[in-house]
Amino acid sequence: MISNYHTHTRWCRHGTGEIEDYISKAIELGMKEIAITEHVPLKGNPDSSRMLFEEFNAYNREFDQVIEKYQEQINIIKGFEAEYYPEEMEWYRYLREVRGYELFVLGQHRSDRRGGIDYFAPKGEREIRLYGDKVIEGLSTGFFEILAHPDMFLTNHYNGRLDEVSKETMKKIFKTCEKENVPVEINANGFRTGRPYPNQDIFQISKEYDLRYLINADAHDPKALGDEYILEAERFAESLGIRADAFLKNLCEVCY
Ligand SMILES: [Zn+2]
Ligand SMILES: [Zn+2]
Repeated sequence: MISNYHTHTRWCRHGTGEIEDYISKAIELGMKEIAITEHVPLKGNPDSSRMLFEEFNAYNREFDQVIEKYQEQINIIKGFEAEYYPEEMEWYRYLREVRGYELFVLGQHRSDRRGGIDYFAPKGEREIRLYGDKVIEGLSTGFFEILAHPDMFLTNHYNGRLDEVSKETMKKIFKTCEKENVPVEINANGFRTGRPYPNQDIFQISKEYDLRYLINADAHDPKALGDEYILEAERFAESLGIRADAFLKNLCEVCY
């Protein structure tokens, strides 16, 4: 893997390693481009396993120092993984336009910022349809550049046989990714954590659409940038005849 666009750090409270540890690991592995995409901090800190809103400035300072130190060796992108919450779009836009967090990865773990539905928890048809609606609304803003773990809702739902509502939901999501030209992630962390995603049947369905794909580590530990689960994700794609892109944009072909 010569790029990775989904990287967490110890700042999210459920990861380990400093920003610098991830960058030096990526350089050691020969990567050309890496995005650090910590879970976006939100005012009021609705989720306790995230960077605190009050920590953002310290995080940003440290991030800038790391970029300064390593920018000659690797292309480093400032980004965030974020849920689509309509009331937070203004904050996200500020982070992008004023603070330089250019890459927003859509990871819809919950239905709304004050709790709502946790899409990792057991769920029924209503929750799955709502997941689809939120993801589609988020993609349709044109703000997000990658869709992370599109089939994450299968956690605590999938029992070996895909139901119609899951298939239908994923078709609508893939159709929107095609329309908005948003690459779909093949998430190695799903394999790493033994979750039921990325799901073979779902990605088989995805082939009915004209999609771009990216294999991402979704690293919460620097070692995860080059572990066997990356290889598993590559084999998964290969077995389905899916060709993942090397880079999000063609920037690097110009840079290197
Ligand atoms: Zn995380
Ligand atoms: Zn995520």
